[in-house]
This record gives sequence, C-alpha cells and structure tokens, in this order.
Amino acid sequence: MKDNTEENKMEKIISLCKRRGFIFPGSELYGGLAGTWDYGPFGVALKKNIENLWWKKFVDGREDMFGLESAILMNSKIWEASGHVAGFTDPLVECKNCKSRFRADQVLESLGKTGVAGATIEQMSAKFKSGQDIVCPSCGKRDWTDVRQYNMMFKTQIGAVEETSDTIYLRPENAQAMFVNYKNVMDSIHPKLPFGIAQIGRAFRNEITPRDFTFRTREFNLMEFEYFVRESDWEKYFDYWREEILEWMDLVGIDKELVHELEVLPEDRAHYSKRTIDFEFDFPFGRKELYGLAYRTNFDLTKHQEESGVTLEYLDEETREKFIPHAIEPSFGLDRTILALLVSAYREDVAPGATDIRTYLKFDPKVAPVICAVSPLLKNKPELVEKAREVFGILKTEFGRVMWDDNGNIGKRYRRQDEIGTPWCIVIDFDTLEDDTVTVRERDSGHQERLPASSLVSYIKDRLS
Ligand code: ATP
Repeated sequence: MKDNTEENKMEKIISLCKRRGFIFPGSELYGGLAGTWDYGPFGVALKKNIENLWWKKFVDGREDMFGLESAILMNSKIWEASGHVAGFTDPLVECKNCKSRFRADQVLESLGKTGVAGATIEQMSAKFKSGQDIVCPSCGKRDWTDVRQYNMMFKTQIGAVEETSDTIYLRPENAQAMFVNYKNVMDSIHPKLPFGIAQIGRAFRNEITPRDFTFRTREFNLMEFEYFVRESDWEKYFDYWREEILEWMDLVGIDKELVHELEVLPEDRAHYSKRTIDFEFDFPFGRKELYGLAYRTNFDLTKHQEESGVTLEYLDEETREKFIPHAIEPSFGLDRTILALLVSAYREDVAPGATDIRTYLKFDPKVAPVICAVSPLLKNKPELVEKAREVFGILKTEFGRVMWDDNGNIGKRYRRQDEIGTPWCIVIDFDTLEDDTVTVRERDSGHQERLPASSLVSYIKDRLS
C-alpha cells in the first residue's frame, strides 16, 4: 500500500513546481499535451546547474572523455542496425470497452502478478484472458484485446514532398549517436583505450502511458556516455563507473537513503546487454528506475560495422592487435535527476519563532536555482535601495544566479526564497549605511548573522565548494 503522506508529498511538489516557476504542464494554454512538461525560469536554472556539474565531473574533469552534440534526426539505417526498428517495443493492451491503452506488463505488475518479467507476448495475453481480477483501471470492465508489441519510436517525414519523403525517427536514446561517431572521434582525436564519448541531449519515446509528473514523459533529456574498453577490462570499468554514479548522487544532493541497486535479471535485460544495474529511487509513487548502468559489449559497434561496411576496429599500436572495443554505458536521466532532487530536498517545518508551517527546498547551493537573494529592508527608502543595488551588482557579477527581491515584507520574501531553495537571503538595512554590515539569513535554520558586505563573496564561495 502506498503511504498517504507520500502521495500528498507528490501533489505538493507538483503544486510548488507550478506555483514557483519550476515546471509547467506542456501546452497548458490549449488544454495540454500528455507526456510533455515545460521547465520555467527556476526549473531551467536547476537543470542547467545539473548539466554543468555533470559535464564538469564526467567530461571537463577528465582526460579520457570527449564531448559530442549530435543531430536528433539521424539516418533510419542507424535504427535498423541497432535493432530499434524491430525491437524497441513495449507490450500494449487495449480495453475494448473504453478504448484505454495500457502497458500490459505494468497492469500485471500493479496487480502483483508473478512471472511478468521475461514473459512473451502470448504469455501476457493469456494472463489477461484468464485472470478474473484483471479489470481495466479506467472503466473496471474485463474485455481486453490481445497484447501486441508497440514500437515507441516517433516517426516523422524528411523531405519537402510528402509522397516521396522518407520516414525517419526521433532518437529514442543518445547512445547510437556516440557509436556512429566513434570513428570520427578516433580519426580526429586519436584517443587510446579506455576512453569515452559523452553527450547531453533530448530523447523521444512514444510512451503508452506517460505518468508520474516528469518521471515518464514522451520527450526527455539524457546525460550519457559510452566508455570504450578492451573486453578483458569490462568488469573492472563496470565496477568503477558504478562507484562514480554513487559519487555523483552525493555531489548533486540525491538522498542515497532512497537509492537501491537492482541487478537486472538476464531475461529483463536489453538485447545488447550482458550486465545491467538499475539504480532505483524511492519516489513518492513507488520505487522506480532513476539511472542505468549497462555493459553493452561490442554489440553496437559490430552491428554498425556490418551494416555500414566501414571498419570500426581499434588498432592497438603496441601489440598491432585489431578488435572492436566494448562499451560500458552509464545513463543518467536528467528529468528523473531533477525529480529525485525535488523529492530529496522537499521539507516542511515550523520555523523558529513562527507558528505556521513553512515549505523549503533543501538544495545543495551548487544546484540551487538562486544562490542568494538581495533585498533592501524597505523598498521606498532610496538610500537603502542604492546600497542594496550596489551589493546585488557585486554578487550578480560574481555568481550570476543572484536575485533582486523587494516584493512584500521581509517575512514573505524569506518564505518565497525558501520555497525555491535559495540558501541565503541578504538584507540591507539602516545599520548597513553606518557600518557596511548586512544581515545574512540561512535557509535551513533560519539563523541570521551580520557580516561585512565586503566578505559576502568569500562567504558564499567557501560554501559553494
Ligand atoms: P523505464 O523502464 O523506466 O521505461 P528504461 O529502462 O526504458 O526505463 P533506459 O532505456 O535505460 O530506460 O533509459 C535510460 C534512462 O533514461 C533511464 O534510466 C531514465 O532515467 C531515463 N528515461 C527513460 N525513459 C524515460 C521517460 N519516458 N521519461 C523520462 N526519463 C526517461
């Protein structure tokens, strides 16, 4: 049974995201578009901070990782070679009565049915036909179609004339872009094994049932790399990247108490994988996949070599040995990272000296959309505004993510900044004009201290590292 408070928590997070400008429903003005969400001003800031931290840790912070930004539209032969055209499917079942469509495995799993993992389409169909308790979650009737495979790739046409145009696909993952650019990176940079190719970018999947806020959407962002190794080294690097993923969670502020590793069973693994670990997270709507780590063997490069006719072998200059490298793939869903951070950071308490409940996001200052807010105590006192503007200008130049906030009284400003997770609020008052000190109020404790205005930059820098 799901805990009621957890359900409430999700509703509260969704409402906060909308109210405070983090995440809005996609196309809302026209009634929405299922499975799409738009990041508002603070959501984009959070997203960019996460992307930058990821790039810094996994690309700029290393010597063996090379960046890539590929086109989303790619030759459909790539998706034929990778197996996606034939096999990137989910099992679809439809209620004949109300026409609602569901992912068959999800319906069965939600009812606690066993033997769903690895079950064939025919076996799943049989379960729907035989199980008396398998009723439609929408209308309650029991009148199912057969289960069938449903390809999740979005199709579109390329070319100006519809009749002669070719069908192409929006990429459902970023990985293939790294594989088809492997040779370009080799030829231009000449890296030695092991090395990786990394990309942050959009992926598209025509999910049967997008749901759970930004957890399962039809358009999402991935931060991924393919790390190429010798076959004999794969276990060593698989373990290495497992540790690095856990380290990343600490860096960004994902609550590790809520993270669980799942060794994916052979029958549940993707066709290309010989070992996969799912990093699951206790979201308020259940324990679900946050990240994946897969050993993809040399499946993809081998397929692309076969289908393109271009050799993708690596030449070991010392041994003169030629072989196709194997790939380890850590895959970080960016939208799920944001959701896990929101869940990890969401807090309610009664602030010292107050009686009502306040809500705040306990973001690490490194990811917080706003590092600090600067306010004049009173906005109708020009001398306070002038001094506050001066402090604001210095901090804005230094940190960028600094907000001017003179809306409402100080208490209201603190509440607003707490809700968007701003670690520090800086207030300029009449004493500032006398002694050049300011009030710095800390988000989590509500503690206030007076500091020289000139020490603010180093105060914040110390706490950002
Ligand atoms: P799931 O089982 O939840 O559908 P998956 O196993 O298909 O996920 P992968 O193909 O391994 O997922 O995709 C890599 C990562 O992309 C996932 O770990 C997740 O973070 C993210 N992801 C996958 N599908 C979606 C989606 N529909 N919306 C948002 N993020 C997604």
